[in-house]
Amino acid sequence: MRSEISRRQFVSSAVSATAVASLPLGRLSWPAGENAASVFTVPMASTSLEPKDQGVLNLAKTPHAKLRNIPVHAVTITSGFWAARRQTNVEKSIPSMEKLLEGNGRMNNFRRLVGKSDTPQHGPVFSDSDVYKWTEAVGFALQSGDRPELRGFTDKIIKEVVAVQEPSGYLNTYYVGDRAKDRMAPDVQRWGHELYNIGHMLQGAIAYYRATGDRTLLDAGIHFVDGYLLANFGPAPDKKPIFSGHPEIELALVELYRTTGDKRHLELAGYILQGDDRIKVPHRGIVYHFCGIPFTSRTHLEGHAVRAMYACCGATDYYLETGDQTYWKTLNTLWDDLFNHQMYVTGGVGARSDGEAFGDAYELPNFTAYGESCAAIGNMMWNWRMLAATGDAKYADVIERALYNGINSGMSLDGTLYCYRNPLGFDPSGGDQIRNPWYDVTCCPPNLERTFASLPGYFYSTSADGLYLHLYDNSVLDWHLEDGTGLKVQQKTNYPWKDAVDITVTPEKPAEFTLYLRIPGWSDHSEVTVNGKAAAGVTAGQYFALKRRWSPGDTIGVKFDLSTRVIEANPRVVDDYGRVAVQRGPLVYCLEQLDQPQGVALTDVRMDPSQKSSSQFHDEFRGDLLGGVVVLSCTGAVHEKSSSQAGLYFRYAPNASKARGVPLTFIPYYAWANRAATSMQVWTPVVNA
Ligand SMILES: [Zn+2]
Repeated sequence: MRSEISRRQFVSSAVSATAVASLPLGRLSWPAGENAASVFTVPMASTSLEPKDQGVLNLAKTPHAKLRNIPVHAVTITSGFWAARRQTNVEKSIPSMEKLLEGNGRMNNFRRLVGKSDTPQHGPVFSDSDVYKWTEAVGFALQSGDRPELRGFTDKIIKEVVAVQEPSGYLNTYYVGDRAKDRMAPDVQRWGHELYNIGHMLQGAIAYYRATGDRTLLDAGIHFVDGYLLANFGPAPDKKPIFSGHPEIELALVELYRTTGDKRHLELAGYILQGDDRIKVPHRGIVYHFCGIPFTSRTHLEGHAVRAMYACCGATDYYLETGDQTYWKTLNTLWDDLFNHQMYVTGGVGARSDGEAFGDAYELPNFTAYGESCAAIGNMMWNWRMLAATGDAKYADVIERALYNGINSGMSLDGTLYCYRNPLGFDPSGGDQIRNPWYDVTCCPPNLERTFASLPGYFYSTSADGLYLHLYDNSVLDWHLEDGTGLKVQQKTNYPWKDAVDITVTPEKPAEFTLYLRIPGWSDHSEVTVNGKAAAGVTAGQYFALKRRWSPGDTIGVKFDLSTRVIEANPRVVDDYGRVAVQRGPLVYCLEQLDQPQGVALTDVRMDPSQKSSSQFHDEFRGDLLGGVVVLSCTGAVHEKSSSQAGLYFRYAPNASKARGVPLTFIPYYAWANRAATSMQVWTPVVNA
């Protein structure tokens, strides 16, 4: 799978294809050995937006984005489902993770290099990224409002990080001393995570810059990219090749380009996405690392799931800036593979623990499911980019599925314990501790923290003709349309527990624009009213376009179909064959053993196919349970074996077992494993299956 064009041709064509060539260059250079910050005085004028007004992605000038991000500060989530989760995140998770990073030597790794600690290096090669991802979580948290104490100790951490940067720009706490000679060696590029660390540093630096205007970490990141990477690496014969190893630098470089306007940052991302065959990697490595060959030669998802998702994010970012149709074609091929063959009903991805990898098509085991929290987050990040490119609600449906289920399950309700893997079935007898405060590979906890902290930035987008509403919860948007018209939108709701959302639209003056309401794919029958009058043409799985002259105080009423849905999987998913899952609104449900009647083992439980009619489910909000959840119940059956069915194998006898009715109680999947260790399953067999 070799490229038809040379690396050099590729880079030059990518540059000419960009519509961003007119942006100010912002090209920087400084005398050797001088600290970047001391010479970095030119403004980063790539965008008309102030740093604080740049969203999760700064798409203000992105030529192939149909939708543009709104800043995180523009949406205040006031109360309800996500407000509670986000409060726990910023008040418990983020502060406790800082203590864990400290306690596990992550900061001493930096201090040691400037003589302020004599403890040995701690943690795996990617340990620096834990600090950077946590910094990104803080950056997003501060975009929702100042927190002086959090700001204070993050400033201190950033100072300790940049103190370690070498005059060349190189910055890493592992490849130092005796290991310095191994820096960016081909094999270290495969496994050493040097650029993965810097990718997360850049993302953290950008989020922090957007929150505070402080460029300390950002300047250090630019210094690494310009001073070390661009000076020594690239497609030219006199430069050394790059193999990304763990994709992440690609998406970070595109966001850096959106921040600096320096098109070399975009070109470098394009070069890395293209791969450089001067670094020879065996086929299994090309599969596992999901890099090293042209991204556009990929035909399906495979290999390490987080790597593949981050690569898809970077490739979509690259497409959004360049409009390169070969990328767009590949991205659609891979998305179809994701959606039709590879995604769990929870939005989790990556079926195999071996290699933390995608399996074959339809290979979606439940008990052994890997479903790493980071991979579900990568899935959401990728779909956010695809949504920006198209405005197609199918991507928003995946975002919601992953967010409410396979991501949300990753953090305990008290915000101090985290899942690395998110299986869809669980048996505690093996002793597996599913939620833990700390992992030596602690990628998932700060990843969850940055996702929850950035969440307001995912609620809306603007388009040339109006506003898109993606996510529902009690919130106030205070932003403006792309033509500058000020606009406030208030949502009042008990979503996802209740079916109604009341929306008030307040433009600064009467204005004609389109408000695109997302109608989730799961809502079979939705009703929309405008100022009390029913609107026609509402379709599940699409944005409902309300084009009119909006006046201050106009109201929209939305009612979704929250009836419980019983879900079947494609029969090729052998692990789900003859089984059903239960979903209500965006939430996938599960059975936990401790909610079922005494003596009824989950392994013996069946559901009655006649109950596919959702009216037979009873729902009840239980404020006292799991932070307040709607519990679902129905009458199922327990399968009682006859004496002829003992042992491991026996003669098939369909009528030998007796079923008796039992009440079954379902809780939202995200809330599982928050009480005593107990069995859990998402997919339950149907009677006589
Ligand atoms: Zn992870």
